[in-house]
Amino acid sequence: MSYSEILARIAAAVKAAGRTDGSVKLIAVSKVQPLDRVRAVLEAGHRLFGENYVQEAAGKWPDLRAEFGPVAVHMIGPLQTNKAKLAVELFDAIHTVDRPSLAEKLARLAQDRGVCPELFIQVNTGREPQKAGILPEDTDDFIASCRTLDLPISGLMCIPPEGEDTAPHFASLAEMAQRNGLAGLSMGMSADFEAAIAAGATHIRVGSAIFGARTYA
Ligand SMILES: *Cc1c(COP(=O)(O)O)cnc(C)c1O
Repeated sequence: MSYSEILARIAAAVKAAGRTDGSVKLIAVSKVQPLDRVRAVLEAGHRLFGENYVQEAAGKWPDLRAEFGPVAVHMIGPLQTNKAKLAVELFDAIHTVDRPSLAEKLARLAQDRGVCPELFIQVNTGREPQKAGILPEDTDDFIASCRTLDLPISGLMCIPPEGEDTAPHFASLAEMAQRNGLAGLSMGMSADFEAAIAAGATHIRVGSAIFGARTYA
């Protein structure tokens, strides 16, 4: 698979779903990928990337931004509260607001800085004990408490359980977003981004289908 093939598949899925061109943003997930692969996608003109680790992103993106100009980088991995300050300085969006203590920390940082990255609340749609995210039944209340904190929440994010049909998870996330008046839906990865687009995804997070398999050191 290649970057241009992925773009073609996204365009076809957007059309098949009867959605408008440009209504789905491709986040190219570059975590732990060799730099030459990331550069190739930058050279192809892509300007939206996703990272899972604050330290890795901090070591990579300041230089790449100096070289390539403005590049949006979204945090899609779990965020420790003690890394939140660095994260808000580095990222244009955080997709993993998953607990009250992090929301409170981000609200304090937003107040101090006068700006805040775009924020998504991660919902544990599969209710998996080992997975981060707000439980579905707690999500409405959590959104309300984020709004009380003046946090600019733009949408919801989920990572469905591995090996399960993802469509019901995408549908339930879309329903939660809709009833709370949230437009953003961060859902869909290499294996299922077309199903996510059919279910209304606004942000898909695609790594290995663009860059190849990740090899962890
Ligand atoms: C790594 C990762 C992705 C990309 O996964 P692929 O299967 O390589 O497309 C998407 N979302 C999150 C949250 C990830 O951690």
